[in-house]
Amino acid sequence: LIRSVDQTHDPALRCWVGSAHLPGADFPVQNLPFGVFRRRAASERFRCGVAIGDRILDVSAVLGAGLFSGEARVAAECCGEPALNRLMAAGPSRWKALRVALSAMLCDETVAGAVSPCLVPMSYTEMTLPARIGGYTDFFASIHHATNAGSLFRPDNPLLPNYKWLPVAYNGRASSVRVSGHDFHRPWGQLMPPGATTPLFAPTRKLDYELEVGAWIGESNVLGCAVSVDAAEDRLFGITLLNDWSARDLQAWEYQPLGPFLGKSFATTVSPWVITLDALSPFRCPQAVRGPADPAPLPHLDSAALHDRGAIDMHLEVCVRSKRMKDEGMEPMSLSRNRLTDLYWTFSQMVAHHTSNGCNLEAGDLVGSGTLSGAGPGTYGSLLEITRGGQTRFALPSGETRTYLDDADEVTFTAFCERAGFVRIGTGACTATVLPARPPYLAPTVAV
Ligand code: MN
Repeated sequence: LIRSVDQTHDPALRCWVGSAHLPGADFPVQNLPFGVFRRRAASERFRCGVAIGDRILDVSAVLGAGLFSGEARVAAECCGEPALNRLMAAGPSRWKALRVALSAMLCDETVAGAVSPCLVPMSYTEMTLPARIGGYTDFFASIHHATNAGSLFRPDNPLLPNYKWLPVAYNGRASSVRVSGHDFHRPWGQLMPPGATTPLFAPTRKLDYELEVGAWIGESNVLGCAVSVDAAEDRLFGITLLNDWSARDLQAWEYQPLGPFLGKSFATTVSPWVITLDALSPFRCPQAVRGPADPAPLPHLDSAALHDRGAIDMHLEVCVRSKRMKDEGMEPMSLSRNRLTDLYWTFSQMVAHHTSNGCNLEAGDLVGSGTLSGAGPGTYGSLLEITRGGQTRFALPSGETRTYLDDADEVTFTAFCERAGFVRIGTGACTATVLPARPPYLAPTVAV
């Protein structure tokens, strides 16, 4: 069931890492997200760490200090690996034991001398993907996005008949997921220009982003054994921001009848720090109430616990910055702000549905929420919605205009949770820049 608030969320906690207390810090001691790091340009291995203020705690390096015991020690022993998969597979009681131990350690001045050598300044480090991703599934759980996108094609009937009965999804591509900061080239693909009768093979002309939250699966379920909606929370390790980059012209031409394929598989970006479900406990809230005419979900997708605390109250923002804005020293421009509470289906319902046929989810699998949009202007999670499928242009502060993304545009997502009586926590950024298309059959020239 949904994890409870405990001593690790106490707003009175005082951490001996001073930067954790700066106003607006994403990583106070109440957060403790996990990521995979190494010192930049070093020949050392990537390993698992925990963000605290502007530092990273090298968890397996702390093992030598003898400060972990029991389940916390078992969990800490998973952190020497270059991915979180083993920790993810260790299960919720070990995750929680490690969180409690880390919180106590970082608030205990008497062990600061022993632990501080295991802290690395974030500015000296580089991050890699949180996990080896065996499978990536992208849902469509924001009813506002589904309605906005559907209304472009079916103005009178935007939602298809299945929408309110099951969380719709497609199988995404795991191999092209990259961590924040990895730029990518505008993809080529087959597209049918308006009015043409023959498709072209060309760089996409309609490159878009999709603001999403990605949930990382912890413990696997056995093939053939479904996970109930009430047990699904225990399968969720944590969340990151996710950008499901989309080439709308490729997508429009290819997607019927089997769904998205090359229009999305060229790149997906995730933020590096996995915010655990334990850290999110104070920010759980009731699931959005369904409309009076909406059907109740079938019993295997419904739970009283979800009605009370099934959603996560997270504030999300999309910013864009062109090369000219960057060259002229301008700040990124905010395009949208919205709330994760708007989701029609919770992550528990997505996991329950995903496994309801016996499909096995595995530690490190990634489950995208689908594009997150609110009900009105200023809340849309994609340019498809902001520009009504490219029909309207919007202006940047540099005087440039856009429908879809231009080369050298940088897109950044950020998010945070806040609630009276608790300390604000943030996700850190999910960012990448669009590089110009390159001839598709050349050998790689940039780090991939
Ligand atoms: Mn998507």
